Amino acid sequence: MSRFWSAKVNELTPYVPGEQPKVSNLIKLNTNENPYGPSPKVLEALKAEAADTLRLYPDPNAEQLKQALADYYNVSPRHVFVGNGSDEVLAHTFQGLLKQDKPLIFPDISYSFYPVYCGLYDIKYTNQLLTESFEIDLSQYPTENGGIIFPNPNAPTGRVLPLSEIESLLKRNTETVVVIDEAYIDFGGESAISLVENYPNLLVVQTLSKSRSLAGLRVGFAIGHPALIDGLERVKNSFNSYPLDRFAISGAVAAIKDQPYFEQTCNAIIESRNALVEQLKGLNFDVLPSATNFVFARHATHDAGELAVKLREKSIIVRHFKQERIQHYLRITIGTNEECQALVDAIKDILA
Ligand SMILES: *Cc1c(COP(=O)(O)O)cnc(C)c1O
Repeated sequence: MSRFWSAKVNELTPYVPGEQPKVSNLIKLNTNENPYGPSPKVLEALKAEAADTLRLYPDPNAEQLKQALADYYNVSPRHVFVGNGSDEVLAHTFQGLLKQDKPLIFPDISYSFYPVYCGLYDIKYTNQLLTESFEIDLSQYPTENGGIIFPNPNAPTGRVLPLSEIESLLKRNTETVVVIDEAYIDFGGESAISLVENYPNLLVVQTLSKSRSLAGLRVGFAIGHPALIDGLERVKNSFNSYPLDRFAISGAVAAIKDQPYFEQTCNAIIESRNALVEQLKGLNFDVLPSATNFVFARHATHDAGELAVKLREKSIIVRHFKQERIQHYLRITIGTNEECQALVDAIKDILA
């Protein structure tokens, strides 16, 4: 608190990101980063960008990156918006498209940044409860709304909805914007980008932080009808005309173009996930079906918060949310096979 703060700043409840430890000897399974480094082609592109040209501003429209994403997803560059991490893309989306007279709807258990943006931009919202088995039931979402947003696959549950259910929602809900936050889609879901052409109120948001191993570079994007994209551009150009620097643009283009590396690392994570799920089940965990690079698991008898503390003592960090309905669960990022094995060994030790 400070007397120099505005009234608005006084009332904010900022997002609390997962810990980024200052020591390096930890097995970090708490923020859903990719255990594999970015493509070697990304590193080459970044080295090439470290040059005299850094004195010049980057392309304010990041045309090269928009074109690469447009080619990859088979849309036109006018359907593409890019930002400094998908968090920034989401922030502009909340302000530019989801702030309406009627309340925005999102699930009660979901990405915890959504209520923070609502607070920042004074957006009214209501939460739609997940089912008992932590599924999003879109048939329950009222068409009277100021917009709808949810992650697919959902975080932190990891559960995915089939594209057919999203399309049914879009057929019913034609008057407000529907945003699908696909941060984890490459690990097991079917993207809604294919629906963008037919539904002018659909915006799909993705990130290069997870499946492209570039959390440190901060690149996210949205794909939607050009009218939605133009709205986002208006917000962006009233906020920061150069959100992506030269490194981010070049690195992201190289990442999108390296399809073999992308497939290889995604497949490795999916295989490790499937193996870890079986091992956790063997240790008496209830594990939700995951289409992501993390699992959401609850032990039959051991308290989740205590487990997290004991794992931390063994140099492994996982995420525990002290939130109603999910306080008995741990969200565990999929690491390399060695990291997953270290986790399983540590849990066996703790349970013994
Ligand atoms: C990680 C994550 C994001 C944010 O990703 P950045 O691009 O790193 O800002 C957005 N939504 C969900 C659901 C996420 O898990």
